[in-house]
Amino acid sequence: MPHKSVKSFASFAIAIPLYRIFDYAIKDPQLVRVGTRYRLPFGPGSRTGVLLATHNSASVQPDRVKAAGECLDDSPVLSEHLIALATWMSDYYLQPVGEVLFQCLPRYLRKARREKPVRVKYWQASTIEPALREAIKKRSPRQHQILLAIEQSDCGLNALQLKNVNLNWHGLVRTLEDKKAVSWNWSKPQTSTTPLESLPELNREQAEVFSQMESRFGRFSVHLLDGITGSGKTEVYFRLIQNQLNQHRQVIYLVPEIGLTSQLVERVRRRFGERFAISHSALTERQQYEAWERFRQGEVSIMLGTRSSLFSQSARLGLIIIDEEHDASYKQEDGIRYHARDVAIKRAQMLDIPILIGSATPSLESLNNCEREHYYWYRLSQRPTRYAPPGIQLIDSRNTKLEYGCSPYLLQRIDHHLGQNSQVLLYLNRRGFAPVVMCHECGWQAVCRHCDSRLTLHQSLNRLLCHHCGFAQPVPSKCGDCDNTGIRHYGIGTEQLEQGMKKHFPDFPVLRIDRDSITSRDDFARQMETLRQGEPCLLIGTQMIAKGHDYPAITMSAILDADQALFSASYRASERLVQTAFQVSGRSGRGDQVGEAYLQTDFPDHPLMQALANQDYRKIADTITRERKMLGFPPYARVAMFRADALSLQQATDKLDEIKHCLVDSTTRHQVKCIGPIPALMTRRIGRYRAQLCLLSPDMRKLRSVLRESMPEIELVKSTQKVKWVIDVDAFDL
Ligand code: ADP
Ligand code: ZN
Ligand code: ZN
Repeated sequence: MPHKSVKSFASFAIAIPLYRIFDYAIKDPQLVRVGTRYRLPFGPGSRTGVLLATHNSASVQPDRVKAAGECLDDSPVLSEHLIALATWMSDYYLQPVGEVLFQCLPRYLRKARREKPVRVKYWQASTIEPALREAIKKRSPRQHQILLAIEQSDCGLNALQLKNVNLNWHGLVRTLEDKKAVSWNWSKPQTSTTPLESLPELNREQAEVFSQMESRFGRFSVHLLDGITGSGKTEVYFRLIQNQLNQHRQVIYLVPEIGLTSQLVERVRRRFGERFAISHSALTERQQYEAWERFRQGEVSIMLGTRSSLFSQSARLGLIIIDEEHDASYKQEDGIRYHARDVAIKRAQMLDIPILIGSATPSLESLNNCEREHYYWYRLSQRPTRYAPPGIQLIDSRNTKLEYGCSPYLLQRIDHHLGQNSQVLLYLNRRGFAPVVMCHECGWQAVCRHCDSRLTLHQSLNRLLCHHCGFAQPVPSKCGDCDNTGIRHYGIGTEQLEQGMKKHFPDFPVLRIDRDSITSRDDFARQMETLRQGEPCLLIGTQMIAKGHDYPAITMSAILDADQALFSASYRASERLVQTAFQVSGRSGRGDQVGEAYLQTDFPDHPLMQALANQDYRKIADTITRERKMLGFPPYARVAMFRADALSLQQATDKLDEIKHCLVDSTTRHQVKCIGPIPALMTRRIGRYRAQLCLLSPDMRKLRSVLRESMPEIELVKSTQKVKWVIDVDAFDL
């Protein structure tokens, strides 16, 4: 009789939308490692899975268990800690565990690729003749900029770092190589632990906050740094980071976005040299993976990144920092739904390390947690620079003739500030040329074929675009209904505002920052240089300019067209408006000149506008919080939202009715409110009809009991391509 070996099994997580893990047979149980990826036979094809545990018996009949394929990794790509975190997320957010685990990996590793050793090229400067340097400086400022950046680095720059200096670094470096001004090597930079630039002396408030935090940092604790714009929060972060580096620990530093505009990257580089990696979605998968790998290997000590960088692997993580913690971009709204701030707090708790969250306009949730003494609460109420942030002044735009969306008074203020050699920031959160295109005969409007939304005119593209699905069409020459040729556009977007300002202020550069303007990148870099050097100019932008910038020459900021928020159906709209208003106004007066901040509105008597003009953030936040309490909304209630989308509204609501059916007993027993199904705010989007079913309770435990009791049954409600449903725990909007 042939010898029959004892079979061993392992369970694997696979990235499919099922709430379960899968068993496979494995050959050498003592050799396998938890957290490595395998190629696994699955259905007719194969999938990648992450090994979670080994055991002696399988959950299904042993002879029906398939054998796992090749192992793709030499070492685990997910630590046991991250697996535990993902498991918690899967349980809390009710998302399939396999999908959550893969979400924790850099995209590059989500596919069945073998891990490739990261070898990074570093460019170093050669000693060059003064004549050559002069020639480079004179003929190509951009080459010179690259050369300087390389020379000023500790030990050369890699591709990723060069890209941050200039997007077209490749050609520039190639030319510098030809000129023998630089050369490259495969090498790791040596890391020094002394800060590179001299440190400003902390002011009294900063010093106090810093020493209090330090004394509480030994174990898990959440610290909210609630400091007005420009109060030196970043400086406090830097000190705390430096302390971690001195103890040979690593830091994850999350920010809402790292655009091309990121001044922060430069600041971090000036302070910490090349001891950091950057990761965000504008990088390629391979680059994100390289950043992840360099941090994992300990080659760099700081991971500066956006939301998903939270899952960076580290064997000696000492601190997590989340800047602008109120920012909506921390909430992932598709795929795996989670809130990065909340998951980060969980991660810190599991590792027993401190976490620091900061904002000039903290979320109501975090303020509430401070009030209930779940978080430590620190305030910075002064700017270390000369002037306090300006108060917001309302400009009444009723009954005045607007030019390019600006009232005469606003234009006059802009003129005044430019005349004083200052910079002016105009915030308009609407890209494109005009948001409404319509027939003035019959009232026909250009709307999207696939969404319940209007099309925006983009004049430079000579197209109408849908900002929700990307649908584009040529600008029609006549009305879609009555054949009239009098098509007109109404309202104003950043593209039009830019044109208008260029016409009105021909002597000053006008810079525009929004998702469309980033197309001509070189131009853009040059414009940013103007801003940095403090020459007078106008800066126009969407939310991309609202935060994270510190340009001391800006002495005036203005918000145009904030009125939409007053009529929004979203309960978060007022909180968002207030945060934006304080963030935008806080961009001005950071240098040694006093700033001014304006908000132009048709509703200057509206209570919220009045509050903005007369109160500080905390007061307004208190008022909004009280309203929320009365209405029984977050942070005084917890929400779980079921969303469905289908080719018809009926199908979507039917699906939610099916889910509601599984919940009813439980919600009644636990007295959890169940609202819906109702059509979503924007019912049709990208060709699908959307509806929602909302569970609401002041008590998270009750809500969780309902979900725990009903989920096994709900999971059986099929989610198909035709009628899809998802659950969103702690949903942002109702
Ligand atoms: P925040 O992050 O709160 O917006 P920053 O850290 O960006 O504030 O600080 C605003 C400006 O003040 C920056 O230019 C920074 O260099 C400067 N600054 C911060 N702390 C100090 C200090 N203690 N002394 C002098 N300047 C400071
Ligand atoms: Zn018409
Ligand atoms: Zn659309």
